[in-house]
Amino acid sequence: MSSSSHHARRARSFLVTAALAAAWLPVSVGASPPEPAPRVSELPSPETLPPADESEPTPASEPTPASEPTPASEPKSASEPKSKSKSKSTAKPKWIKHRIIPGERLAEIAARYEVRTDSLIRWNKLDKNNPKIYAGRKLSVYTDHVPPPQRKITYIVEFGDTWAKIARAHDVDPDRLRLRWNPKVPRRFKAGQELVIWVDPASPRARADAAKGIAEATSPAIAALPLVQIPRSSISVGKPNNGKLIGSVQLPENNKLYTLRKPDESYGSSHTLQNLQLAIATWRRDTGYSGKLKIGAISKRGGGKLRPHLSHRSGRDVDIRLPLTSTGSSAKKVSDVDWDATWGLVLALVATGEVKTIYLASDRQKHLLAAAKRAGASKETIEKILQYPETRGYDNGIVRNQKGHTAHMHVRFSCAPNETRCEDY
Ligand SMILES: [Zn+2]
Repeated sequence: MSSSSHHARRARSFLVTAALAAAWLPVSVGASPPEPAPRVSELPSPETLPPADESEPTPASEPTPASEPTPASEPKSASEPKSKSKSKSTAKPKWIKHRIIPGERLAEIAARYEVRTDSLIRWNKLDKNNPKIYAGRKLSVYTDHVPPPQRKITYIVEFGDTWAKIARAHDVDPDRLRLRWNPKVPRRFKAGQELVIWVDPASPRARADAAKGIAEATSPAIAALPLVQIPRSSISVGKPNNGKLIGSVQLPENNKLYTLRKPDESYGSSHTLQNLQLAIATWRRDTGYSGKLKIGAISKRGGGKLRPHLSHRSGRDVDIRLPLTSTGSSAKKVSDVDWDATWGLVLALVATGEVKTIYLASDRQKHLLAAAKRAGASKETIEKILQYPETRGYDNGIVRNQKGHTAHMHVRFSCAPNETRCEDY
């Protein structure tokens, strides 16, 4: 084991900042409910739930502002502190839908939208004594206070994690994390286990982070990362070996995260650049790796042929030099590469959910495998990610053998949903 593996030994968590693919759903787990409400003690697990839409009240049956007293005109409950850190909203109240997340309580939903629990009951024609709320169901809410919805992320357990630690890191309730969101996960989980977490951009911690001046914070997990804004205009068209790039955007300088070896070859699709930056940021945060990371070729402006590469034409291929040990100088030398950090980087890239393939020579994957085992990765995780010891074929592993890829890994990102002309092979 190299002396530099201290980097990755500190590695703890790899957040699947599936931000990108995040489910767009709602909760508030941080706030304490201002009033007692019936606790929904037995929510069925999401798998057994009917689709939320089936139980939705039709618009015709919904109360309308005209027929109902608005929340604004209702007296606030006495227990509600007046000096609440409520952002003074000038927005007009309107009807919105809240989609209930597993384990969420009526009182929490009321607190989230700054309305009364009994209003929620009335608007949705719920039975006061047995309100039957369950995950996936949508509730109608009339409010002028609409925080961003909760987001579902996937988190990969790392060596040394505990339920409490993960809950704390994401500002969520530990019981809910374990019993509601991950009921099938053994209490004593192993590294590599995937967990579902509902992060709440409206949680007190997330709001505090945002107040520290992080623009566009979308979740507590992403809030504190040193991300540079990337314009959304750049679109990948065609295949990696014959495509092009429309509305080209260059990977912005971000010396906290990486350096660009060839700025004029650092154009990519917005989707690629965003996920690349996010993966590197979470990797540095989670592993503590502080060495340089050099980004090589992506695509040239407008895409198209980029010598000497066969691909790199549609803005989705990124060459990343393997991270070095603190004393290493050449990524060509196996002993100069920090394989623990490299494994961490692969995990962070995969965790975006937007990486199709990573090319790396088989004799280098061998060192990656050893690092994965040191990090306590489960057999399933290793098999999902590494092709090694196989050296050919397309049905196993995200990291695949390709000759010549010894000092750098070549990362191919997926097409974004809005890139309708983006193609794979
Ligand atoms: Zn390449």
